[in-house]
Amino acid sequence: MNSLLINIHTHRKARLFNGIELRNAYVPDPSKMTIRYPISVGLHPWFITQFSKQVLRERLISLCQLPNCKAIGEIGLDNNYPNFSVQLALFAWQVAIAKELRMPVIIHQFKSHENLQKILRNFPEPIILHGYNGSIEQWKQLNFFNNTYISIGYNVLKPSKKLNNCIQAIPANRLFAETDQSNIKIETIYEQLALLKSEPIPLIVNQIHENYNRIMPH
Ligand SMILES: [Zn+2]
Repeated sequence: MNSLLINIHTHRKARLFNGIELRNAYVPDPSKMTIRYPISVGLHPWFITQFSKQVLRERLISLCQLPNCKAIGEIGLDNNYPNFSVQLALFAWQVAIAKELRMPVIIHQFKSHENLQKILRNFPEPIILHGYNGSIEQWKQLNFFNNTYISIGYNVLKPSKKLNNCIQAIPANRLFAETDQSNIKIETIYEQLALLKSEPIPLIVNQIHENYNRIMPH
């Protein structure tokens, strides 16, 4: 089987390339959803006041039934944004829905490591820490059931000893790559990962495709 390039998190329109992109959708109205490419759905901590809880639950549950919906996310906690206690409640609640539906979660986090630990401690499904910029120790502290992955985006193109060390130390079977909001080509992220891991690019592509098939099989 030929391995495909996986872009595990993007907000941009799918572009044609030899791979799979998981596009983030901000809880669209399921009745108006016509797209068939892979998506993740969830309410981002920046937009927590956008829907009532009831509308959000109804939409999330029906969107998650779609065959192209692969994960709940991005959801999470951001200490730079207001209403942190509301963020906490809404995040815990979306994690509970993901647990109920047995779906992976894609996590946005900023300065909220301890709270993430508390909420994800009993979550057995795959966890993807998107736009990861932390250390190997922080990953270990969130890897409760050996179910936690880090997804590397444009941060890897900036000089950071902490992140570089983390990428070198983490097993490749816990790694993803993403473009998020940026215009960077996903190929550029793979090149950098291969360089840091001292592995040929096709090996990293293979491994990340395997990771995708393991946690989002259909
Ligand atoms: Zn994002």
